[in-house]
Amino acid sequence: MQLRFVGCGDAFGSGGRANTCFHVTGERVNFLIDCGASSLPALKRQGVIRDDIDLILITHFHGDHFGGLPFLLLDAQFTRRTRPLVIAGPDCIETRLAQVREALFENSSKTPQRFDLRVVALTQGMTHSFGAVNVTPFPVVHGESGGPFLGYRIEAEGRVIAYTADTEWTETLIPLGRDADLFIAEASTYDRPVKNHLSLTTLEMHLAEIKPKRLILTHMSDDMLERLDTLDYETASDGLVVDI
Ligand SMILES: [Zn+2]
Ligand SMILES: [Zn+2]
Repeated sequence: MQLRFVGCGDAFGSGGRANTCFHVTGERVNFLIDCGASSLPALKRQGVIRDDIDLILITHFHGDHFGGLPFLLLDAQFTRRTRPLVIAGPDCIETRLAQVREALFENSSKTPQRFDLRVVALTQGMTHSFGAVNVTPFPVVHGESGGPFLGYRIEAEGRVIAYTADTEWTETLIPLGRDADLFIAEASTYDRPVKNHLSLTTLEMHLAEIKPKRLILTHMSDDMLERLDTLDYETASDGLVVDI
């Protein structure tokens, strides 16, 4: 399988990076993890064929992870998509998706799609299967309102991809990421604590317990981006493709 960091930025466009959107492809899978506001232009710029995407997993409803869906769905309608699409995420995703679509493009949520669109709320701690993709959502800690907030452990084609999403440190990140072939972890700051987010030095204290086979840092603020040359870890960049 391959994972492309279509966008790996934060909510503030730090470093000019696109909002979070990862594209995973394999022999039997083709899905997105998150679809932040700038995802459609980023997908087009990187030549990703949107029609082949079967599934979009959403971690939470912040605009830099969720806000690209109205654009993506409108584009799919106008480009006459026919392939069914599943969008899965936290509780209330059906309501939240309709609200954001209406806010950005009035009546877009009421127009019948040319393609079958299924929106699925995921249960925390349960493994859900979408074709060859097995997804286990874990609760993460990212604020008092606007939740639920999920991180994902995803198994497909004999490999495990784990993604913390946006979160401060929580013990659930240990089973979420343990021994993962690819562990994608938020590292918003280097050592400065920021409420609801993870710093690299906090993550480092727990890496021995998580033991990921490969770690890539994402969602970096300017504080991290200024240190890229001195870090001992792999970091994401827009357009980076990794084999899993
Ligand atoms: Zn974010
Ligand atoms: Zn967030």
